[in-house]
Amino acid sequence: MDQLFDNLIASGIHSMWNINQFIKRDQRWKCYKFLKRSQYFTLENIEKLQFERLKRLLLYAYQNVPYYRKIFNKLKLKPGDIKTLSDLSKLPILTKETIRKNFKDLITTDKNVNKIPYQTGGSTGKPLEFFVTKECKDWGHAAQWRAFDWWDIKKGDKIAKFGGLSPRFRTNKTSNKLKDKLLSNTIFLNAYNFSEGEISVFINEWKKLKPKVVYTNSASAEIFARYLKSRNINNIQADIMVTQGEKLLDSQRKLFKETFKCNIYDFYGAREISGIAAECKEHTGYHISSENIVLEFIKNDSICAPGELGNIIITDLHNYVFPLIRYGIEDLGIPSEESCSCGVNLPLMRSIEGRSNDMIILDNGQYLSPTNITTMLYCFPIDQYQIIQRSKNKIEMRVVKGKEYTEETEELIKLYFIRMVHDDWTIDHISDDESIDIEIIYVDDIPVTDSGKFRYIISEVPIDF
Ligand SMILES: [Zn+2]
Repeated sequence: MDQLFDNLIASGIHSMWNINQFIKRDQRWKCYKFLKRSQYFTLENIEKLQFERLKRLLLYAYQNVPYYRKIFNKLKLKPGDIKTLSDLSKLPILTKETIRKNFKDLITTDKNVNKIPYQTGGSTGKPLEFFVTKECKDWGHAAQWRAFDWWDIKKGDKIAKFGGLSPRFRTNKTSNKLKDKLLSNTIFLNAYNFSEGEISVFINEWKKLKPKVVYTNSASAEIFARYLKSRNINNIQADIMVTQGEKLLDSQRKLFKETFKCNIYDFYGAREISGIAAECKEHTGYHISSENIVLEFIKNDSICAPGELGNIIITDLHNYVFPLIRYGIEDLGIPSEESCSCGVNLPLMRSIEGRSNDMIILDNGQYLSPTNITTMLYCFPIDQYQIIQRSKNKIEMRVVKGKEYTEETEELIKLYFIRMVHDDWTIDHISDDESIDIEIIYVDDIPVTDSGKFRYIISEVPIDF
């Protein structure tokens, strides 16, 4: 989910690096202009447009992509049998495993389509390889530009970035840093791995630049915010913070608001499919870019009712070189039926609950979402933690102790877990409980994943929907 930050530069919204950008921009600009209009279409017309694009994609995939032809034939279906959006569920979900196994058959045989190789960051396993076209990148970028407008971000705005955000920054190339400095009024901090010296330089740069916008993933911003808090530094502020790449927790939203005194907007995108959904100023939920994608919420093979948690399944309506039709992105989310007072008629999703393997699955079939757990743990004096579910009855919790952490804290954490597991807040002791074994392991530091992301919760128990 590092797309936004790469695209900020690549798209040229903050910079015009070379002449290619001008040429590239032209098509993107047209997409953007269209999306600026289509967001105000009626929901009915947005869905009509979406379905027309879907029909065209399905027909193309059937005619040109061996994998889909095989699937249609196996199911004795023709693209024309998909007569409504809900008929789409007649086709199987395209899992990452299916993509790996059928990689060659998923590429179009049409030689006229341009092919851009891409891969995911691999924060939770092997990177996934696929192809995109220039056209689908243009539409993705255009959806991001549209979201910048919702948030009042303009070309030339001063920017601060925290990360381990993207391979671009991890390469630490002087040319990239120079480009950022010269062209986009940007300061950058690798919040995962900084020295006292680096951070004081960064804080000074911040005071000098006075950035309007902060781009970050939530874990990086949390590390920086906690650093500022622990040293009583409270004049580091910005107007707008855009988070993406990881689940933004309610506790983090509160912390960022307090620390940076900014408006916070969460953005949902992925390398496979960019510009999926974004919050607007009203924070009614995330507006889905329905002109570019079909987004389904599926639980136990059925479509979720509004408010019900399900797997997010996405069809990219513009990827003709490597069609992702009903792609299981392995995130969970909640659909919403609400409409938004901002005037944009794009459908809403209520929340993104993070990756499906970030859920704790209990023996009784219930689950604990990252939101439940992190909200509960927020009140404890813990500097950093990571929860690993080894089995339905075994949770391991790595803890970096905070200053006020005592033996009693450990007992309390366990008690709160037991209460949550049983959904019974009157339980006052843990000694007889055999339903779940919670082991707390104390560590000095918890490393980030190879792609620079931090995972609070890792479940080794597969989710069964
Ligand atoms: Zn809105």
